[in-house]
Amino acid sequence: GKGAAMVTAVAYRLAEQSRHIAETLAEFRLTTEQLLEVKRRMRVEIQNGLSKSTQDSATVKMLPTFVRSTPDGSEHGDFLALDLGGTNFRVLLVKIRSGKRRTVEMHNKIYAIPLEVMQGTGEELFDHIVQCISDFLDYMGMKNARLPLGFTFSFPCRQTSLDGILVTWTKGFKATDCEGEDVVGLLREAIKRREEFDLDVVAIVNDTVGTMMTCAYEESTCEIGLIAGTGSNACYMEEMKNIEMIDDDEGRMCVNMEWGAFGDNGCLDDIRTEYDRAVDDFSLNPGKQRYEKMCSGMYLGEIVRNILIDMTKRGFLFRGQISETLKTRGIFETKFLSQIESDRLALLQVRSILQHLGLDSTCDDSIIVKEVCGAVSRRAAQLCGAGMAAVVDKIRENRGLDRLNVTVGVDVHFICYSCITLIFSRIMHQTVNELAPQCNVNFLLSEDGSGKGAALITAVGCRLRQELNG
Ligand code: BGC
Ligand code: MG
Repeated sequence: GKGAAMVTAVAYRLAEQSRHIAETLAEFRLTTEQLLEVKRRMRVEIQNGLSKSTQDSATVKMLPTFVRSTPDGSEHGDFLALDLGGTNFRVLLVKIRSGKRRTVEMHNKIYAIPLEVMQGTGEELFDHIVQCISDFLDYMGMKNARLPLGFTFSFPCRQTSLDGILVTWTKGFKATDCEGEDVVGLLREAIKRREEFDLDVVAIVNDTVGTMMTCAYEESTCEIGLIAGTGSNACYMEEMKNIEMIDDDEGRMCVNMEWGAFGDNGCLDDIRTEYDRAVDDFSLNPGKQRYEKMCSGMYLGEIVRNILIDMTKRGFLFRGQISETLKTRGIFETKFLSQIESDRLALLQVRSILQHLGLDSTCDDSIIVKEVCGAVSRRAAQLCGAGMAAVVDKIRENRGLDRLNVTVGVDVHFICYSCITLIFSRIMHQTVNELAPQCNVNFLLSEDGSGKGAALITAVGCRLRQELNG
């Protein structure tokens, strides 16, 4: 009778629900074959970025950094460093001591950059930066010191020496009148406008390069830097003869890959899902940084939110009610994602996190949310691992080796937020091992790598400058 029909309808609905959820999650599960294909495509894009005939149109830009060697331990002195481009802006004082007992001492202060400054005019942004430096110098009582300064500027820059021109903003930044400009010049002008102190700006440094340098200071086999934070990127030591845009063929130079733009020519379209496309379409830079948008902290929560909205619309989640919260962009910060995904977290705690975000969930809902978070971050770690597999195999082949031992310096900024990253780095490591079996890859986590690295590069820059002048 009626009762039986209802039971059948409910059963049918449940079957439909689990089928849809399984199908959605399956889109995020990449096979080894697919990951090998991602690795292969990354290799093609690396080559395009390095070759003269293809570099203009290359998506992975492979930018030379003019950092030609990792630190040798003789670096020393006091330096200021700026770190812009992650979640916060930081000003640091770094004291490097050489000799038998090498030490690096750091003092730093974190400053927020308000959204309206990140997306206002270039002048406002750089005035704000200089205002923060001024506050820091007061705080340290060293307004008159005129120290050499290194600027960790975590955006693509075209360099011809230790300074550089901003190619394009990424992540949450969109200040006007900066793209195409010399970043050191913008900083110097802002310092001049303030007429309060003087600084000796020596170098700008990508965060990947800073991280590699910091790790190399402790571990000489470190020749790769990796950021898996707000954005995603890597750098490594490439043979000069392979960097076709520089005529010199001797030795090696660190190349800032800017791998976040991998896929911008459509080469990852077959693995991008409708949720990736939605996140991209509503971002500040649609069509750009497509790989970054599948791998990095700034976007993973948004992918999750888009999946949850879709499931809710179909009536499979949150009783079919799309709340204002769920409609709010950016509510799923990566740190929640990480907490939710963590193996150690009981479902009750998942529910309370969702509650805290303003999402009223049932027990079934929290199981589904947890699975979604797991699938999205697992794919991110695997994609990142596939990219890294391409890099380590490239280095191995460069050197004509059957086996390569290499260390990757990883900035742990995002890792300390939570455990995603412990899971993230485990999965990434497994993926590299599987996709590049001829390489022994060791990951070295560096706390504060990018800021310290800017100081080390500045130290090297100062030494070279003295050698040239003296
Ligand atoms: C930038 C890179 C940077 C990375 C990590 C990307 O969006 O383009 O220059 O290294 O984020 O911060
Ligand atoms: Mg950083």
